[in-house]
Amino acid sequence: MIEVKNLTKRYGKITAVDDISFTVDTGEVLGFLGPNGAGKSTTMNIITGYISSTSGTVTVDGSEILSEPKKTKQKIGYLPEIPPLYIDMTVRKYLEFMFDLKRVKLPKKEHIAEIMRLVGLDKHGKRLIKNLSKGFKQRVGFAQALLGNPPVIILDEPTVGLDPKQIIEIRKLIKSLGKKHTVIFSSHVLSEISATCDRIIIICDGKIIADAKSNELSAALSGGQRMSLVAEGKPAEITSELEKIPAVTKVRRGGAADPGVKYYVEYKQGEDIRRDVFSAMERINAPILEMKSGDESLEELYLRLTENAKGGEAS
Ligand code: ADP
Ligand code: MG
Repeated sequence: MIEVKNLTKRYGKITAVDDISFTVDTGEVLGFLGPNGAGKSTTMNIITGYISSTSGTVTVDGSEILSEPKKTKQKIGYLPEIPPLYIDMTVRKYLEFMFDLKRVKLPKKEHIAEIMRLVGLDKHGKRLIKNLSKGFKQRVGFAQALLGNPPVIILDEPTVGLDPKQIIEIRKLIKSLGKKHTVIFSSHVLSEISATCDRIIIICDGKIIADAKSNELSAALSGGQRMSLVAEGKPAEITSELEKIPAVTKVRRGGAADPGVKYYVEYKQGEDIRRDVFSAMERINAPILEMKSGDESLEELYLRLTENAKGGEAS
């Protein structure tokens, strides 16, 4: 459905997007994950035809964005990082206005009513957009992207700034969109992506550093087991003490856990190192504040990949 080929975007000396290629199949929900400044918005702005690329091509459902901008744009519903809302309009007036602007050919009243129902705005048609909460404003942005039932929906950090309840609602909405549309959505938060997507692309410094099905990504870490640990004490001493445990194959320092510091420990398949970790930390008087097995693997992978791509761990 979407084919991105050798896409590069330079802003003067900055290469925001560096020769990336990927395809998205029809009906797929693709998560575009990467730290701030990775090039997510730039890529999305190019796919949707908002800005042009320095080189490379984007094809959506057979049409090329540069040679057939109008035709291609009609196939895409886009929710940019900052939704283009006219805050002095009511919800319904705004959607009617956007309906006309996009020259949607569907029956206007029914179509708008249907979309408002879908995003949970059906009781809010008469409210002024400026009086809506951030979560409801985001729904209006969603509704605008869905006008005309485009086969492709692109959402740039749709959950930023929302509270946890709103985030869950938006996640549900994205999942439901995946039934009828091909969806790409970006986030800098891993849990956001892994909860919602079939497939994840990780981008860092303008380059794709991973592209896999959500479950394959954790499997890519195979060949051993993992646990994470938060402990208080001197990081160098804790690391070296953990490394002394016979079954441990690798210890990596994570971020500050406040209090304490997080460590990721890899160890041999079939072993249980919890007691050894406890004794080791007791020996050097480093209280363990948290110990978790396995479930951090995706988070760890993300950290490891983005750190490697950036050329080493910041100390
Ligand atoms: P993300 O959405 O992943 O946070 P962006 O695509 O917004 O990342 O930005 C990627 C890089 O390109 C950043 O280094 C950013 O500073 C730079 N950049 C983005 N837009 C512009 C612009 N209009 N002019 C100059 N640099 C830009
Ligand atoms: Mg962005």
